[in-house]
Amino acid sequence: MDEDCGSRDWWRNCACCHGKLLYHEFCSMGLRRFIQASYFQCARTSGIPKHVRYKPPSLVQWRHSGSCIYKAVIFDMGGVLLPSPYKLAVEWEVRNRIPPGTIKQALISGGENRPWMRYMRGELTSAEFLQEFGQQCSETANFSVPVDSFLSDLTSSQMAEQLPIMTEAVACIRAEGLKTAVLSNNFYLHNGLSFLPLDRKQFDVVIESCREGICKPDPRIYTLCLERLGVQPKESVFLDDIGQNLKTAAQLGIKTVKVDDPEAALQELETCLGFPLRGFVPHTRSMRPTMEIPRDTLQKYLEEVLGGQKTGPLTVRQFSHGQSNPTYYLTFGGRHLVLRKKPPGKLLPSAHAVEREYRVLKGLAELGVPVPKVLTLCEDSSIIGTPFYLMEYCTGLIHKDPSLPGLEPGQRRAIYTAMNKVLCKIHSVDLKVAGLEDYGKHGNYVQRQVQTWTKQYRLTETHTIPAMERLIEWLPLHLPEHQKTTVVHGDFRLDNLIFHPDRPEVLAVLDWELSTLGDPISDVAYNCLAHYVPSDFEILKGLKDCAVTQLGIPTAEEYFQMYCEHMGIPPIKNWNFYMAFSFFRVAAILQGVYKRSQTGQASSAAAESGGKQAEFMANIAWDFATKEGFRVFNDFPATKPLARSYSTWPRMGVFPRRSYVTLAPSSAAHASRAHLILSPDGLPERAQGLYHKLKRFMDVNVYPAEQILRDHQVSQARWTPHPLLEELKDKARCEGLWNLFLPVETDPEARYGAGLTNQEYAHLCELMGTSLCAPEIFNCSAPDTGNMEVLVRYGTEEQKERWLQPLLDGKIRSCFAMTEPLVASSDATNIESSIVEEKGFYVLDGRKWWISGALDPRCQLCVFMGKTDPDGQRHRQQSMLLVPMDTPGVTVTRPLSVFGMEDPPAGHGEILFENVRVPKENVLLGAGRGFEIAQGRLGPGRIHHCMRLIGYSERALALMKERVTSRVAFGKPLAEQGTILEDIAKSRAEIEQARLLVLKAALLMDVAGNKAAALEIAMIKMVAPAMALGVIDRAIQAFGAAGLCNDYPLAQFFAWARALRLADGPDEVHRTAVARLELKR
Ligand SMILES: Cc1cc2nc3c(=O)[nH]c(=O)nc-3n(C[C@H](O)[C@H](O)[C@H](O)COP(=O)(O)OP(=O)(O)OC[C@H]3O[C@@H](n4cnc5c(N)ncnc54)[C@H](O)[C@@H]3O)c2cc1C
Repeated sequence: MDEDCGSRDWWRNCACCHGKLLYHEFCSMGLRRFIQASYFQCARTSGIPKHVRYKPPSLVQWRHSGSCIYKAVIFDMGGVLLPSPYKLAVEWEVRNRIPPGTIKQALISGGENRPWMRYMRGELTSAEFLQEFGQQCSETANFSVPVDSFLSDLTSSQMAEQLPIMTEAVACIRAEGLKTAVLSNNFYLHNGLSFLPLDRKQFDVVIESCREGICKPDPRIYTLCLERLGVQPKESVFLDDIGQNLKTAAQLGIKTVKVDDPEAALQELETCLGFPLRGFVPHTRSMRPTMEIPRDTLQKYLEEVLGGQKTGPLTVRQFSHGQSNPTYYLTFGGRHLVLRKKPPGKLLPSAHAVEREYRVLKGLAELGVPVPKVLTLCEDSSIIGTPFYLMEYCTGLIHKDPSLPGLEPGQRRAIYTAMNKVLCKIHSVDLKVAGLEDYGKHGNYVQRQVQTWTKQYRLTETHTIPAMERLIEWLPLHLPEHQKTTVVHGDFRLDNLIFHPDRPEVLAVLDWELSTLGDPISDVAYNCLAHYVPSDFEILKGLKDCAVTQLGIPTAEEYFQMYCEHMGIPPIKNWNFYMAFSFFRVAAILQGVYKRSQTGQASSAAAESGGKQAEFMANIAWDFATKEGFRVFNDFPATKPLARSYSTWPRMGVFPRRSYVTLAPSSAAHASRAHLILSPDGLPERAQGLYHKLKRFMDVNVYPAEQILRDHQVSQARWTPHPLLEELKDKARCEGLWNLFLPVETDPEARYGAGLTNQEYAHLCELMGTSLCAPEIFNCSAPDTGNMEVLVRYGTEEQKERWLQPLLDGKIRSCFAMTEPLVASSDATNIESSIVEEKGFYVLDGRKWWISGALDPRCQLCVFMGKTDPDGQRHRQQSMLLVPMDTPGVTVTRPLSVFGMEDPPAGHGEILFENVRVPKENVLLGAGRGFEIAQGRLGPGRIHHCMRLIGYSERALALMKERVTSRVAFGKPLAEQGTILEDIAKSRAEIEQARLLVLKAALLMDVAGNKAAALEIAMIKMVAPAMALGVIDRAIQAFGAAGLCNDYPLAQFFAWARALRLADGPDEVHRTAVARLELKR
C-alpha cells in the first residue's frame, strides 16, 4: 500500500467507480464527501431529535427502493403532519359546550364561497373570517359561538408540533432520494404571516392555498404542486385526512393514502414505497439493489465474532454516499455497528483498502486518539463477497456549520480548541508504537503531492486557469525546507468530528480514507479552508463573511498559533504556503470532477458552475501564494544598492538637448527575477537585450523625430497622425520592439506580448517615458495598453479576434470611457450612464468626458463603463461594454485641452452616447463585472504611468544639467550657482526615491501579485506625479523662459505630470487608500 493514497486513491476510486461521482451528487455532497468520492466511514447523528434517533425497524423484508416507482410524497399539513383540526374541533366543542359538529358543519358546508374556503384562498383577513365564520356557526348553534377561541386553539403550540413519526418518515423518504412536499389548505394569521409551523427544510416544495389563491380540492393546486416538484401524477403519493381532497388527487392519477390514524397511514405508505419509514439513522437509506449484502452469512459471522449470546434481529441500512467503499449501518443483538467493505467487482490492486483503514484506526485507538472503535477485520470474501471491517456506531454531535450557530462565543472557542488538540494528538502519535512506521513514505510529502495533483490536473484540464498555471510554477519553488513525517488525516475538518453532546470533547475522528504519513502542517492548513470560503459556497460552508473573532472562533492565523502552542513548536512562518497548497489540491480535485461532469452526465448549468469552482479555489490558492511571496519579500536580506550613474550623450538635432542613458556595473546581470533590479544592466539577458535595442532605437529614431512631431501637434493638420509616426511604428515592429507592455502574468505564454515581468518592463517603460511620442511608436501607449490587457484577460475569443488583434497590430486605437461631467468620477461607483438590456442588445445613454484618444481618427473602439443594475450591490452595478466608435448615437462633441494643449491627434474628448445599441455579446466578462474589471485594469497601468514620469524627470534633469553647465549668468556658469546645485541634488534624490518605490511595487506585483502590492501601487501614484512636477519645474526654472515653450519637451512634461495628479484617480484618493492600508497593517 502506498503512502500517497490520499491523492491517488481518490482518483483510483473514481476510476473504479467508472466515474460515477456525478456532478450534481458532488454538489449536494459537500467537500468532505466529494473528496472521499462519497464513502462514509462511520455513522453519525445530527439534527434529529433524540427520541427519533433510533427505533428498531420491524423485520419486514423491504422491496428495494431502487425499484420504487414513486419520486415524490405530498403531505397535507393539519391532520397529517400536524394534529387533526377536526379532532380539536370536537374537543373544543365539548369544552365550550357548543353543540357537537357545529364547527365541522361550518367548515364543510356552504359551497365555494363559504367563509372557510375564502379564508383558505387568502381572500379574507383573519378578522373578516372570524366575523363571518362566527355568524355561520352561531346560526347553526342558535347562539353566539366564540370562534376566535377556536382559531387561537387551532394555532396553539400544541397544534403546531409536527408529529414525530411523520418527521421520521419524511427523513426516511428523503434519504431514499424521493422529493417531499406540503400541500395545505392554509390561512394567514393576524400578523400577516401564514400558519406554517414546520421546518421547511424537510420539504422540497411547500404549497399553501392562501398564497396561491386556490384551495384543495381544486385540481389546479395539485397540478401546481406536481409541476413544482417536477414529477408526473403517477410518480407521486398524496396523504390527506379529507376524502374529497384525496378523490381529486386520485382522479388526476396520484396514488392516495387516507390518514385517519397516522401510524396506520404510514404503514400503508411503507408498503407502497417499498422501504421502511422508521428506524431512521442520519445519512442512511435502505440498501441499494446493487449493494446488497447477504444477511444470512453476515448474521452467522456476527453471532460468532460478537459472542454466542449476541443474536438477531439483524437490520441493515446503507450510508447514502457509500459508492466507493460501501458502508452499512447494522443493528444486531441490541448493538449498533458500522460495516465498511470494498465494493464488488474487479478493483485496482491497491484501491479501496479497507484493511488499511482498519489498521490505522486500530493503531490510533491504542494510543488514545479518539476514533470509532474497530471490532474486527474480515478478509474472507466468502462471508459477504469482499473483505470488510466492523466498528462501533458512534453517537454524538456533528457540527456541519463551521460558524457553530446557536452557541456562545466561549463554547465555539472551546469546540475549535478541542479540534485543534485532537489534531495535535494525531500528529504526536509515535509511529513505531502504533505500528504505523510503514503506513506511507517518509519525507517530501508536499513535493510528491504537488507533483501528483499537477499531473492529475493536467489530465483533466479543460481550459486554462491562469492561477493554476502560476501555482504549478510557484509551488515547487517554495516547498517547505523542513517537513516532519507523522500520521496525517488528509481530510481533517470540523464536520468529520463527532463531539460529545454536552461538552467540547471530540469523541471520534471520522473518515480516515485519505490518511497516510505526511507533513502534518498540511492537515492544519486543510483544517482552515473554511475560513476563506463564503458561507453560501455550494460545496463547503465557509466562514469568510463571518466576523469570526466576534463569534469566538479563532482566525486561521490564531488557529495555526494555537496548534504550535499545543505542539510546543515555533510559529509556522510559511503557513500561507500550506494554505496555497491545500486550495491548489482542492482546485485540482474540482477540476477532475468538472471534467467528468462534461461527459454529459451533469446539467450544463451545474457543469459550468463546477468549472468556476475550480477556478475560484485556484484563485484563493494564488492569493495565498502572493501573501507568501510578500512575506518572503519582506524577509529578503537588505540588498546592497547598485550604483547607478547617468551620462549624457550629445543630442542628434538642432537643439541643445541631451539624451539620457543609464550605466550600471554588470555584477547584477544575473540577478534573479525575485530580486529588486535597480539598473537595466541588472536585467535578465533577454530583457536587457530588449532594453539596449530600445535605447538605440530611441537615440537613432525617436529623439530626432520629436521636434517634427511637436510642430505637427500645433499645425492645422494636427488631428491627422503624422506619417512619420506610422513609419516609426513599422520600424519598431520590425525590430521586435512592439507590445512590450503585457505582463507575463497576464500573458504567460507571451502569445500577445514580450513576456516581460512588470519589473523588467518598468525599466523599458522609463526609457520610453523620456520622450512623449515614444510609447505610441512601440504600441505601448495608454489607453490602448489597458484596453488590450483587459481584452487578453477578460475577452471572449470573438472579442479578441475582432478588437484585440487589430489593437495588437497597431492598426486601430481605442479609448476608455468612464469619467462623466455630472458626477465626481474619482469614485467610480458614482457614474450614471445607463446600460439597459433590450431584446438581445444593450442600449447605452450618457455623457462622458476626458476620454483620451477619442478624437484620433484611428480610434475604433470605446470600452464603455455604465450601470446595468443601478439598484444592485454597490460594486456590482457597473458593466463594461465594447462599443465600436462608429455605432449610431456616439458623438464626440468637443476636444478638451490641458493648459491649452490638446494632445492631438489622440486628444481628450467629450462624448455623447444617445440610444447607442450594441449586441449583448459586447459585454466584457458579464453584466455587473465592470467594477471588477476596472480594478484589475489598474496595477500594471500604474507602473507604466509612474515609470514614464520617472522617464520625464530623468530627461528633464539631463536637459537641466546640460543647460546649466553651458549657460553663464552673472559671470559664472549657472551650474555654479548655489540654488541650482541644490535643485540638481534635490532632483536626483527625489528621482531615486521614487524609482525605488516604483520598482518595489513592480517586483511585489511579480512575486506577490497585484493585490499584495496594493499599498505600493497606491503610494507610487501618489508620489511619482508630485516628484516629477518638482523636478520638471526646477528644470523649467533653470531654462528660463525657454523652458515654457514648445522647443523643449519640458512644458509638455509638466502639463502631463500635472494631469496625472488627477487622471487615473486624484492624489487624495490614493492617499486615502494608503492611509487606510497603513492603519490596517
Ligand atoms: C489628461 C487626462 C486624461 C484623462 N483620461 C481619461 C480617460 O481616458 N478615460 C476616463 O474615463 N477618464 C479620464 N480622465 C478623467 C480622470 O480619470 C478623472 O478626472 C479623475 O478620475 C477625477 O474625476 P473628476 O474629474 O470627476 O474629479 P472629482 O471626482 O470631481 O474630484 C475632484 C476633486 O475632489 C477631491 N477628492 C475626490 N475624492 C477625494 C477623496 N477621497 N478625498 C479627498 N479629496 C477627494 C480631489 O481633490 C479631486 O481632484 C482623464 C483626466 C485627465 C486630466
